[in-house]
Amino acid sequence: MHEHETFWKLVPRYSRSPHGVVILYGAKNPAVLHCTTFEDMEKQLVRMIEIYNLKRAGLKCSRGQMLILLLHAQVQHINFLWRTVIAQSRGVVGGYCTSAIDVHLCDALDTFSALEDAMVDSKEFAYSRSTGFQDGGCTCRTCAPDSEELVRMWLFGAVNYAYLPRPLFKRVFGDFSEALAPTRS
Ligand SMILES: [Zn+2]
Repeated sequence: MHEHETFWKLVPRYSRSPHGVVILYGAKNPAVLHCTTFEDMEKQLVRMIEIYNLKRAGLKCSRGQMLILLLHAQVQHINFLWRTVIAQSRGVVGGYCTSAIDVHLCDALDTFSALEDAMVDSKEFAYSRSTGFQDGGCTCRTCAPDSEELVRMWLFGAVNYAYLPRPLFKRVFGDFSEALAPTRS
């Protein structure tokens, strides 16, 4: 069995290790994210904020500097959610995510990924993405689920997370249901 096949799945772009320390993020050839990488990133961003004195700069911040402040806030938010996921994990193997915290964490990573895009585009600081997709990534069933698995994942999510606020549900599960539409018609 491939190591990722023990991961808990949420949507095609998000699954995580049973103990929650590794997240596969991205629908195709996902990036392998480690919680320690994000903890380090938080420290690096704090250092940059201190070096450029960004807390004081306020409205005088450039676009790139503003993006650093936003990235820092988002990484803090992600680390808080991620620590909660790890604390809640009981290490059950090979299932689907059942906690709302995973949905919030996926949503937070989507925002983070969009901020990274903006940071790379702004070219003000040398920045390399941490949510960038891997070349020639893994083709296991978790990283590249077949249509049957996609339907199972969608049905599980639709039932298990029906109670979530509609906008959050749509943001996290929306693309997924669109991707499935052709196979259901
Ligand atoms: Zn894999």
